[in-house]
Amino acid sequence: MSKENKGLDQSLIKRLLDADCEDPLANTDQLTSQAIPHGVDRRNFLIRSAVGGAAAVMMGSSVSAQERTAKALATMPQQTTGRSTAIPPPTGKTGPPPPLDKDLNVVKKGQGPVMTTADEFYKVGPGPSSSHTIGPMRITYDFYQRATKLPADKLAKATKLQVNLFGSLSATGKGHGTERAALAGLVGKEPATVDPKFLDSLRDKPDQTFPVKLGDKSIDVSLKDVIYDATKGDFKHPNTMTVKLLAGNEVLLEQEYYSVGGGFIEWKGYTPPKKNAPKYPFRLMKELRAHADNNKISIAKVILANEMSIAGRSEEEVYAFIDKIINAMVATVKSGLSMPEDDVLPGPIKLHSKAATVYKRALDDKYAADKGIGALSAFALAASEENGRGHLVITAPTGGSAGVMPALVYGLLEVRKLDRQKIRDGMLAALAVGYLCKHHATLSAAEGGCQAEIGVASSMAAALTATAYDAESRVVENAAESALEHHLGMTCDPVAGYVQVPCIERCAFGAVKAWTAYAIASNEIASRHRVDFDATVMALAETAKDMNSKYKETSEAGLALSVTLC
Ligand code: SF4
Repeated sequence: MSKENKGLDQSLIKRLLDADCEDPLANTDQLTSQAIPHGVDRRNFLIRSAVGGAAAVMMGSSVSAQERTAKALATMPQQTTGRSTAIPPPTGKTGPPPPLDKDLNVVKKGQGPVMTTADEFYKVGPGPSSSHTIGPMRITYDFYQRATKLPADKLAKATKLQVNLFGSLSATGKGHGTERAALAGLVGKEPATVDPKFLDSLRDKPDQTFPVKLGDKSIDVSLKDVIYDATKGDFKHPNTMTVKLLAGNEVLLEQEYYSVGGGFIEWKGYTPPKKNAPKYPFRLMKELRAHADNNKISIAKVILANEMSIAGRSEEEVYAFIDKIINAMVATVKSGLSMPEDDVLPGPIKLHSKAATVYKRALDDKYAADKGIGALSAFALAASEENGRGHLVITAPTGGSAGVMPALVYGLLEVRKLDRQKIRDGMLAALAVGYLCKHHATLSAAEGGCQAEIGVASSMAAALTATAYDAESRVVENAAESALEHHLGMTCDPVAGYVQVPCIERCAFGAVKAWTAYAIASNEIASRHRVDFDATVMALAETAKDMNSKYKETSEAGLALSVTLC
């Protein structure tokens, strides 16, 4: 008998070694319960069932799955949902949502070359969510513009403006301030220029009314005109909303819209705007890298050339826009770090701000590496907390993930003092990553969970960092791939529907993972990296399709269920 076996029960060893003794681990069918019985708590049931099975093995007896199921059920406590009282119970039918409508541009997009431009992607707007705040505000602003163009006789009859929110917009819109954002757009406010104090005032005084001028007519609107409608249904996209101009019961103008992620919007009958051909057309990272390598230029320079040709802009104009975004990112980190340490974020979680505390304490850390990781985390927390406050953030790619890229930008520019041109190049390479994820997968948590937000943000930040340090194109790809790969499967389960838990800390982890991805990619032998970026984006798309809808920004499962607010 080996030394290791000395402490084990001799009779159990004899049973396990005895050829005639039935091995309780041999037939895994027997160990797997046929199904979780309906109406019981899954986790509790599985633990009890597993404990029952393990006890049987320890006792040297075998137990069937059916017996374990019966025993586990008999010992289950009466089920409570554990759901925070702040979260409404799920309504309507359960089961997977209908597939995205094939007519949506966001579905058709992967067929041609990438045509997205920087100003479509990096958007400045109020937090906390690009799809639930910036998108809806852009939508109602768009509707307001359309309404102003109606003939005067129609406008003269108008009596009411009405917004209906569906799907995920309805399920978690309250925690995202969707109704306030939708009302702001209706009264003519745009995301990039809206004063966050206006949105705060809507939260503090929800009964306010505002006149909306349509021709000679003025219609009063208030938050009551934004209706949280069905959360489940046969929608073309999980983030669907309608906006109507009414004359009594008569509909003068109606449009169905979709907030498809990252602040991008579409509507029924949408056709993408006409654009010029890219100088270096690419559908895949493989093709993008071939352009870079064949022309002996960086990925950043390929994207710059495409920006100039697709949008018809000069190099100066592209860089001026990128500079504006870099400055806005630096400002969100500075603003977040300057908040008082005892600041409490809006909403029922009563979450204390921690960016300033983490930053100050990290600076006192004994080891430089601890300092670095602590400070990088604090930068991400700072920008993400700004998002939680509903202050202006930048979609990179979304509001929920708005702490990740700014943390790296701030760290590289303000702390490491890298040349601004390096950061510009990094921002362009990051765009390539974001474009490809949007093109073939999704940036919307309502479609793909948090892997589509923090995962993509981390991947972009890894590409930014590698590019800023002059890494070759293969290393940039490898860094972006690693960061995305290690977010695959990450679900979206914001507690109480607020983009705070897990979102704020998750931004810090996304930033640190981006750095880790760069550290690995720049130190490994690049050609030996076995997973290419395109394969990981495909995995992102497939995982998004398979993910249970409960984990797609509906606050029906995960932390949203297990965390109890008191
Ligand atoms: S969990 Fe992730 S995807 Fe969901 S709201 Fe938070 S940051 Fe966004």
